[in-house]
Amino acid sequence: MRPPRDKKLSPFRQRDDQLRQGRAAAPTLRTACPTATVVNVTLRFLTPTLPLHADQSFALYPAARAYFSYPCPYGDCDGVFDVSEPAGRTLAREKAQVAGTLTCSGLRSRDGLVRQSCGLRVNYTISSQHESAGAVTPGRRVSGE
Ligand SMILES: [Zn+2]
Repeated sequence: MRPPRDKKLSPFRQRDDQLRQGRAAAPTLRTACPTATVVNVTLRFLTPTLPLHADQSFALYPAARAYFSYPCPYGDCDGVFDVSEPAGRTLAREKAQVAGTLTCSGLRSRDGLVRQSCGLRVNYTISSQHESAGAVTPGRRVSGE
């Protein structure tokens, strides 16, 4: 399936552009939080009907952009899950792990239907690991998945 080449952007293209721009503008994790060695984000979608959406998990390392917005997995939804606030709490070391639920505020445009609010819920879990000052083993590695 080829994307349309029209000039006016669809809501999905706009969302993708916003995500891309937001990520490009975000500082790296190393800049945002020099002590963080890895941030793990897990999204578990609570779909009321089939098909289920697979869990998504992301591991951010210091060179990655500290950007915590993820598109709604529905292909016809323009929503974004923004977990930057809870992610900031783990980066600030308020908590090692933060979990919560978000509801998609995007609109879905299915064939033949007026655009409807999405309302997909997601359980998120965010955890971060930090170097503990003075106790860093040289050459220590954090293994990814
Ligand atoms: Zn959605």
